[in-house]
Amino acid sequence: MSRGTCVTVHLDNLRHNLRTAQAHAPDSRVWAVVKANAYGHGLVPVARTLAPLSDGLAVATLDEALCLREAGLSGPVMLLEGTVSATQTEQALARNLELVLHHPEQIAWLAACQVPAPVRVWLKIDTGMHRLGVMPDQAPDLIRQLQSLSQVEQVATMTHFARADDPEHDMTITQAELLNNATLPGCATSLANSAGVLFWPGRQGDWVRPGIMLYGATPAPGRSAAELGLRAGMTLTAPIIALRDLQPGEAVGYGGAFKVEKPMRLATVAMGYADGYPRHAPNGTPAAVRGQPVTLAGRVSMDMLTVDVTSVPEAALGDPVELWGEQVPVDEVAQASGTIGYELLARLSVRGEVGYSETRTVQS
Ligand SMILES: *Cc1c(COP(=O)(O)O)cnc(C)c1O
Repeated sequence: MSRGTCVTVHLDNLRHNLRTAQAHAPDSRVWAVVKANAYGHGLVPVARTLAPLSDGLAVATLDEALCLREAGLSGPVMLLEGTVSATQTEQALARNLELVLHHPEQIAWLAACQVPAPVRVWLKIDTGMHRLGVMPDQAPDLIRQLQSLSQVEQVATMTHFARADDPEHDMTITQAELLNNATLPGCATSLANSAGVLFWPGRQGDWVRPGIMLYGATPAPGRSAAELGLRAGMTLTAPIIALRDLQPGEAVGYGGAFKVEKPMRLATVAMGYADGYPRHAPNGTPAAVRGQPVTLAGRVSMDMLTVDVTSVPEAALGDPVELWGEQVPVDEVAQASGTIGYELLARLSVRGEVGYSETRTVQS
């Protein structure tokens, strides 16, 4: 039995956001990034929705990729961090996955593999993020080495931007130049994440890799998803399971973190940090009920949280409270809680239902 807590994924909004990415990078092909359970939206249903509209799907782990293959998704799938062993390399190639190669060991595993057919591989170059990738001056030799392997049909290069969310910072230009200079003629390139897609036209490369924007959250603090033309990928709701009227002088929840200062109506909602709602969300964090804005009052606990519904007297037991979604931007909840939309979405662990809605939403 469900407790009424639910995630509704707006498939049409995901499609809209993908088209928005495509409109920002009209000369690039698109890897739709569906790692981390499609940023909490459900790997397979999201992959089925986005695969027909994109040029490929990108995931972080071999397990995620195998899951896509098992679900019958047979198009291009990229492993963003490549593999972690010779065995994994063999498994990945047997399923026709596209490998990112970011250190020489991975190239050795590839060179030792039997492949059903030659594959395209992506040499990752570290242009300043300093997380993964070979150094730019090593790249030309490695590209030639890869091109000489019988397992390889095509070598492409990629890099990852560290500061593309800051349109003023010239590091992105430096990174793009380093990648382009390290790439041999004829190799396709892939540079841009969501921030690169949205803010760096002309530096995106032949293939872009949008993730967060597909789910309707912003890649850049200070630029709202709405102003970027993005629509919420999901709405998270939970029902009101209790209501009470409180008087000044009382306090709410653990530690009495919310002090009642004037008569108020308080609703208890079936959503807590065990569902992935951030415990750090303070008093005043936005939510909505019956289309009206309301705010958190009191500390978030494991299975419940409390909201001030004084301004919505018609709020009733069982009413769904939107914790984030089409009305309450996930980015606002994230900001209030000292984090980013990415984390709230990817950590979601709702004990309830996940529904997939095709409803077309009209937003101004
Ligand atoms: C996760 C990831 C992306 C997507 O980044 P967003 O900021 O979510 O758009 C792109 N490229 C790589 C290598 C990634 O790991």
